[in-house]
Amino acid sequence: MSPSDTPTLADVRLAAERISPFALRTPLIPSQALTERVRATVRMKLETLQATGSFKIRGAANRLIGCTQAERRAGMVTASTGNHGRAVAHMARLLDLPCTVCMSDLVPENKRDAIRSLGAAIEIGGLGQDGAFEVAQTLVSHHGLVFIEPFDDAMVIAGQATLALEIVDAFPEIERAIVPLSGGGLAAGVCMALKASKPSIRTTCVSTEACPAMARSLEAGRPILVEERASLADSLGGGIGLANRLTFAMVRDFVDEIILVTEAEIANAMRFLFRTEQLIVEGAGAVAAAVLLRENRAHPVPTAILLTGRNVSTDLWLNVCQDRLR
Ligand SMILES: *Cc1c(COP(=O)(O)O)cnc(C)c1O
Repeated sequence: MSPSDTPTLADVRLAAERISPFALRTPLIPSQALTERVRATVRMKLETLQATGSFKIRGAANRLIGCTQAERRAGMVTASTGNHGRAVAHMARLLDLPCTVCMSDLVPENKRDAIRSLGAAIEIGGLGQDGAFEVAQTLVSHHGLVFIEPFDDAMVIAGQATLALEIVDAFPEIERAIVPLSGGGLAAGVCMALKASKPSIRTTCVSTEACPAMARSLEAGRPILVEERASLADSLGGGIGLANRLTFAMVRDFVDEIILVTEAEIANAMRFLFRTEQLIVEGAGAVAAAVLLRENRAHPVPTAILLTGRNVSTDLWLNVCQDRLR
């Protein structure tokens, strides 16, 4: 598979084998509270339990294990809203590769600190995620570093999609999946792999009203720029890239609907997951629950929701739980 080929179910199976020493097969546990509310079985995929606190370790592992000798010598650079950078830094340390992570100042301090403590070099600059991307591109052209795509890369997409195989395995009755969506590296592969494994599965993706880059791009029929506003779901910030090669088309082909959630709904979902399940989930990780808390479907079906990450700072977490925002 070359980095620009659309990944297939076979690529995802291969990725699952490759990343197994680095990424957990996470549990898919029932939510009593959501099941009662929706009136159909709801299970939660706990990517919050991964070593770096999010599913991003799957894609980073698959991409970095595949590095060529020349790439290893050159060193890695990436741009990130935090969780991808942390996963790349974690893998780079395990594989003994030099690594730089570029972030905008929208990335919370707790995420920067975690990356710094993994030994990666850090560059803070640029306006939002798209600006951090430009900083990384300068390092590529000036210093010959290898850019590790946060989402628009076949190896990254296939790596993230390994969690879909685990879901179908553990929950064969599944008829619907709800998946957080930003650049689409998660949604593209997960929705492809779910539908390839069981074609009746409906896929719902969730973005924030603060930064609905993929939704607006699909409406426009091509990748477009959107302004990035600060959000409780900081991991869902950033555009999809005007030169998007893979995730735009895959999300268009494999995602049945995209829902946008508000800041109040994200905070409410974070509180709900703590009060009912005692789970600590960051904003981006809670948006799938926010969708179920809003809906009242006539014919609910067995549903899996992805809780994608846990990396929320203590201060923000306390403010959300005590409903003290603003
Ligand atoms: C990166 C991330 C997402 C979105 O993934 P994309 O591949 O950019 O769509 C969702 N949740 C969390 C916690 C993330 O870190």
